[in-house]
Amino acid sequence: MAKGNIGVTSNNIFPVIKKFLYSDHEIFLRELISNAVDATQKLKTLSSVGEVKGDLGDTRVRVIIDKDKKTLTVQDHGIGMSAEEVDKYINQIAFSGAEEFVNQYKDKAEAIIGHFGLGFYSAFMVSDKVEIFSQSYKEDAKAVHWSCSGDPEYTMEDTIKAERGTDIVLHINSEFEQYLEDATIEGLLKKYCKFLPVEIAFGKKKEWKDGKEVELDEENIINNINPAWTRKPADLKDEDYTTFYHELYPAQMDEPLFHIHLNVDYPFHLTGILYFPRIKNNLDVHRNKIQLYCNQVFVTDEVENIVPEYLTLLHGVIDSPDIPLNVSRSYLQSDNNVKKISSHITKKVADKLAEMYKNDKADFEKKWDDIKLFIQFGMLSDEKFYERAIGFALLKSLSPIAVAEGEGSQYHTLDEYKELIRDKQTDKDGNLIMLYTQDPEAHYTYIERAKAKGYDVLLMDGELDVHAVSQLEQKNEKLRFVRVDSDIIENLIKKNENENENQNQNYSDEQKEGMRKAFEALIPAEKKMNYYVSFESAASDALPVFLTQNEFMRRMKEMSAHQQGMSFYGQMPDQYNLVINTAHPRIQELMAKMTSEEIQESKEESQKTEGESQEAKETVKKTVYTLAGEDERLHQLMDIALLASGQLKGEALAKFVNRSVELL
Ligand code: ADP
Repeated sequence: MAKGNIGVTSNNIFPVIKKFLYSDHEIFLRELISNAVDATQKLKTLSSVGEVKGDLGDTRVRVIIDKDKKTLTVQDHGIGMSAEEVDKYINQIAFSGAEEFVNQYKDKAEAIIGHFGLGFYSAFMVSDKVEIFSQSYKEDAKAVHWSCSGDPEYTMEDTIKAERGTDIVLHINSEFEQYLEDATIEGLLKKYCKFLPVEIAFGKKKEWKDGKEVELDEENIINNINPAWTRKPADLKDEDYTTFYHELYPAQMDEPLFHIHLNVDYPFHLTGILYFPRIKNNLDVHRNKIQLYCNQVFVTDEVENIVPEYLTLLHGVIDSPDIPLNVSRSYLQSDNNVKKISSHITKKVADKLAEMYKNDKADFEKKWDDIKLFIQFGMLSDEKFYERAIGFALLKSLSPIAVAEGEGSQYHTLDEYKELIRDKQTDKDGNLIMLYTQDPEAHYTYIERAKAKGYDVLLMDGELDVHAVSQLEQKNEKLRFVRVDSDIIENLIKKNENENENQNQNYSDEQKEGMRKAFEALIPAEKKMNYYVSFESAASDALPVFLTQNEFMRRMKEMSAHQQGMSFYGQMPDQYNLVINTAHPRIQELMAKMTSEEIQESKEESQKTEGESQEAKETVKKTVYTLAGEDERLHQLMDIALLASGQLKGEALAKFVNRSVELL
């Protein structure tokens, strides 16, 4: 028997392994099985070039638990190792400068793992003792037995082993007895080994029979050795992709919308399939994640540093041997391959979408509502993606716009839409005004007025629309988005300067002041709302009084809901303009009343006694308030304005209904 010291010059390697890897100790199984699979693959390669003769026989990798001996064995029938090879690959731990490195990064174990696959040695994280029994494929090689109890001392001796290949026997430490449980091991195998290229067997298949679970003769194979992403796209049908999707996410009931098969050889290797899910709500978003594999070995499903954040909305797998297997987050971010992979995936995704749009617009439009969130997220967070996506990102009109040929469509690219509305919706300063609504029901009256003018209204009811709109404005000169209810329609798209001014000039400041006060007296006392009374000459058939909401203020408030550092806007109350439409006959009547004798009298009265004092003003105000309070019609007008913008509720609504009935 040979004894020796493991060739790491530092005695510290074992404490490092045990202590720092503690949090992630389950990866030992992945490491050992990867080695077993590698050894099996190497054997197959040698056989294919004729270096290993004859039938390879059983090549399954087996994981075996012995509860009595408290051992876990990973068994393969691969190339095996001779005594010299064990000495070379296991005793002389092959990382250069390990000692300096360990000393340098004592506190940063992740960096160590990131740099060196600890591979075989990770077995010591959970074992008191590890044994290797190996028989090389080489004809003259003797079988070897190696044993080590987690210190730099090992023993090595010849042994007899009937079968070619390697058994790694772990004597599980009492702290880690969960690794002697079938359920734990099966769970880990399903997590890490589901798609390994060599069959992994664990125990026997089980079946429910007469209410009991019975063991069958057949071995329980954990993995699918030919997962869809490793096959040629030409050999796969749509159903195969869907089947694989469900294999990846067994709990997912929904079908994906479509997929992208990735296949890159240069400048790095990468294969994979990305699926576009139907994103229904935020809960869905983080349930099924993209899984990262390295040569079919599961590495992680935390891919945040590998793909841009918006791509994490997608599902599927990415497999690249060029991504370091033992990944630490900080290490990944700085890895050049990882950066390249990220930009490549972005490009592929954009290309696929562009191709889909080009090949079948109608089909793409059908999918648009479901993928819009993803595409907007991408455009907002990645300049390059914006540039690619602007050609297929769609705007959705409330109703189809008929164009010369064909039936017309609700969906348009920005460029198409610009042309469609240019004639009608360009204002006097040459700005192209895009009207939109988030809520066609609530904005019904405003939308009708816009339509009556021949304008088109876009539906912008997505979570990211408010940001998308701002981005489009920034990137396109002379392009403005305004919500249909943000001003009177005549002002939304101003065709010439003084259009609305004339009518208002017919009224004196006093009349306006009286009217303003009358309405201010009626404004509901809501804490979170501010109303400003203004006078506009809208169309005579528009509502006599209505509410508008300033585009800028409202948008700032909406954006602040998503962004940090904008809480100032978030805390502001909602601001509304109470627009008094001086073109409306009813308003004109009321305006006339504001010079009525009653007001004049009270004014003269107060001037006589107190001059232009504060008290005098108060007297006038009181009179106006009385007028407002008594005039049912004023009340009715106010409520109609509130009703038309969905703000009349509860008691106020009941009162309105009663008053309306009485007026009938
Ligand atoms: P890595 O796998 O990253 O090279 P390991 O410490 O896991 O590092 O393994 C070191 C070497 O030991 C492997 O490269 C391989 O040559 C050899 N080895 C490990 N396990 C086996 C096995 N089951 N069969 C054959 N050779 C093995």
